[in-house]
Amino acid sequence: MSRSNGWFEDLKRQIDLVALGTHHGVHWAPGSGLPRAHCPFHEEDSPSFVAYQAPQVGAPRFECFGSCAKTWDAIAFVQERAGLGFAEAVQDLAEFTGMTVSPASEHSRQGSTAKDRREEVLQVLEAAQEYFSKALQADHPTAARARAYLAERDLEAAVGPWGIGYAPGTGGLIRWLKGRGFAEAALLDAYLLRPGKEGRPPYAFQRNRLTFPQRDRRGRVIAHVGRSVPDEAGQAAEPKYLNPGGIPGVYAKGETLFGLYEAQESLRRTRQALMVEGQISAITAHLFGFANTVAQGGTAFTKAQALLLSGCGIHEVVFVLDGDSAGARAVERAMPVCLATGLSARVVELPQGLDPDEVLRGKTAQEAGKGG
Ligand SMILES: [Zn+2]
Repeated sequence: MSRSNGWFEDLKRQIDLVALGTHHGVHWAPGSGLPRAHCPFHEEDSPSFVAYQAPQVGAPRFECFGSCAKTWDAIAFVQERAGLGFAEAVQDLAEFTGMTVSPASEHSRQGSTAKDRREEVLQVLEAAQEYFSKALQADHPTAARARAYLAERDLEAAVGPWGIGYAPGTGGLIRWLKGRGFAEAALLDAYLLRPGKEGRPPYAFQRNRLTFPQRDRRGRVIAHVGRSVPDEAGQAAEPKYLNPGGIPGVYAKGETLFGLYEAQESLRRTRQALMVEGQISAITAHLFGFANTVAQGGTAFTKAQALLLSGCGIHEVVFVLDGDSAGARAVERAMPVCLATGLSARVVELPQGLDPDEVLRGKTAQEAGKGG
């Protein structure tokens, strides 16, 4: 660890904590003396969050004298603020200061079995991404139907940039991934396969579905979300969207936002997030120029998601949920979550029965049929 310890100390020394705080949505109060702000981790009336930067006051750190009553070094701050793991937070900080993370220091970091396992899961998810992308272009009737559906939704331009793919079934996926040296256990860990019941062999979690890669803030694939493909008559398998269960150390439903990676630049610039429900609505909004759109992805809006957004410097969330009672209930539940994390919230009411995608494309409720 000796080399990497020095590297970490260098990294921490180079960080301007005030700029880092601002970058993560802290609003420093004007005035002289120690930089002081309202704590970004708890609600408070007077600012009790302080940055210690000068060497004479000890190690550089943030401190909350309010109800948190704790300190954060730069890495811990980014981890908690942006909901990142240790390695991601270090990467984030290195980018912030312009330092590079060398492979050597990457390896010297807590090289534990859990980390190796996590790395393998990330690699198998990335390999599966390649498989799903190829499968979408395959000369097969089900893949052709998936492509036709994307054309109906006017999403062909998004296939490459968003990595939209297609999951045909079990056999091809297993062959492809085993051919790349991955063990079945890794496929199960990555939620690509589910264990078969009563001694039957494992089967693919996503079958005959479009796939959308869920990425972390660095762009790595951390899960594959599926969406059913309607047949020519518009009948689609339920549930419409299928989210993997938890992938330990990699993905937890409700702790990510679809499109956050793609939206983060726009989020920082606009300080506002447009929140939609499903992957297709988010992608369509981006195609229409609303690059600060993210999707909740099948869960109620959570505190972890609110913290992710404030970690991108967001001040306000605008909920653009489907114009039905479920959408209205979701917004009702989301309001207190926003307020508790210091975000302001607004709601755009959509016409009854329409989702954002249909509104952007100018459809009427009668024409809309099956959306989302
Ligand atoms: Zn606090």
